[in-house]
Amino acid sequence: MADNVAIHWFRRDLRLTDNTALLAAADGGRAVVAVYVLEHGAEGARTGGPRALGGAARWWLHRSLGLLAGELEALGSRLVLRRGNAADQLAEVAKATGARCVTLTRGHSAGERESERAVQARLAAEGIEVRRFGGALLREPETVATRQGDPYKVFTPFYRAHLAGEPLRQPRAAPSRLAGPERWPASLCLDELDLEPRRPDWAGGLRAAWSPGARAARRQLDEFLRAAVASYPEGRDRPDIAGTSRLSPHLHWGELSPFEVWHAAMAVQASAKGRDAGVEAFLRELIWREFSHHLLFHWPDLATSPFRPEFERFAWREDAELLAAWQRGGTGYPLVDAGMRELWRTGWMHNRVRMVVASFLVKHLLVPWQKGEEWFWDTLVDADEANNAASWQWVAGSGADAAPYFRIFNPVSQGRKFDAAGNYVRRYVPEVGRLPDEHLHAPWLAPREVLEHAGLRLGFDYPLPVVDHAMARERALSAYAELKAASRSA
Ligand code: FAD
Repeated sequence: MADNVAIHWFRRDLRLTDNTALLAAADGGRAVVAVYVLEHGAEGARTGGPRALGGAARWWLHRSLGLLAGELEALGSRLVLRRGNAADQLAEVAKATGARCVTLTRGHSAGERESERAVQARLAAEGIEVRRFGGALLREPETVATRQGDPYKVFTPFYRAHLAGEPLRQPRAAPSRLAGPERWPASLCLDELDLEPRRPDWAGGLRAAWSPGARAARRQLDEFLRAAVASYPEGRDRPDIAGTSRLSPHLHWGELSPFEVWHAAMAVQASAKGRDAGVEAFLRELIWREFSHHLLFHWPDLATSPFRPEFERFAWREDAELLAAWQRGGTGYPLVDAGMRELWRTGWMHNRVRMVVASFLVKHLLVPWQKGEEWFWDTLVDADEANNAASWQWVAGSGADAAPYFRIFNPVSQGRKFDAAGNYVRRYVPEVGRLPDEHLHAPWLAPREVLEHAGLRLGFDYPLPVVDHAMARERALSAYAELKAASRSA
């Protein structure tokens, strides 16, 4: 019986389609024991394995595991749920079922890799083979390198190398049935993983905004390619419309593989003229995702340490009150506040607004980018160690291929440009909603009678700006100039 049972260890590949590792487990009609181990320490510390999940991600995971279990049952199988140390749990499941092989889709963060190594070492000692497969990325990080064999630090050459690589394989179909073992091992029930918030249940906004799971992901992809990809080059900058794919949490949890997304978009491009620019711009973002993972793989502490070491000496100001004002959407800048409230309510924020709020925290308030990274990690349904860390460092100017330090987003002009009719701000900051469009993004500049007419008492119904834009801009520029001067003389 021994060679007839394999374990597939589900991690961030919560899908049955295009899952090479799962197919390898089932190869030759082998019985498959599908297992998910909740490894992440609940206490929020980095425990040696994968980074402890944030609250919004835990909510997503609960839903996604429930749906995956249902899909496995439809194939005659089950999902075994465990928590704790992955090596211990998998060894136990192997013993209970007689499995001699474990398959997995490899991860790229330091914690995920560490846990793979521990599983490999532990199971090898018991004569159990561990087989790792790609699938989370279009190209594994080691396979994209400069002529000298080094990792890329700049996006454009990485992008070119990516496009010039071997043709990307087609996605694989889901298995049509999965045989189970003679004896199923013990499993926790989903509620025992304690992933969903109960007291209080703060997830109402997430439930209203999202449908986790592979089927919803596929629908979302198809709908985006049908209705929005053609106008993506302009639509992607508009937070007031559904101009982007909203696939990020699905991609993070592997409910959809990047190969499925890539080839579905290419098929649209081949079949419908006029969508080429949209598809190209969309696929470019998918390659930004690859780039972020490439950076995290080669620089494992990307989420905590500045990529450019001179930024260790930056003159940050740790101000708990300002950080709290930013977190709860009370800065007095309507676009920033709308973004932070969208995040709190729905677990997601539009990319344009992510850039504005991140720039505001780091440059207007001079709060260290790591504080923003941590808040996003806890509140985003798509919280992703690679994309989040690389993006925060990009905004802060400390990253590999970062925005220049003098690019300080003006939240007022960004609002006027990308939310001209004010629909986005009005959705999330109703206090200022009755102001006419021309005053919506800068209420403090509105004449008294306009404020009165809109029923808005600044400093009471809605805060005055926590910092003055012009002063903050000058302060940030001189902090960056000091850093540059210090680095030159060092
Ligand atoms: P689309 O525009 O439809 O893009 C398609 C896919 O490409 C996305 O789903 C995502 O997987 C990828 N992608 C898009 N933009 C980027 C980018 N700039 N970098 C890397 N990949 C990208 N994205 C996350 O997935 N998780 C995060 O934790 C995260 N944190 C961020 C923090 C900051 C400060 C900033 C500025 C950006 C962050 N992003 C993060 C990147 C980006 O904002 C989101 O991927 C995007 O908004 C998701 O929406 P979408 O799926 O509709 O994107």
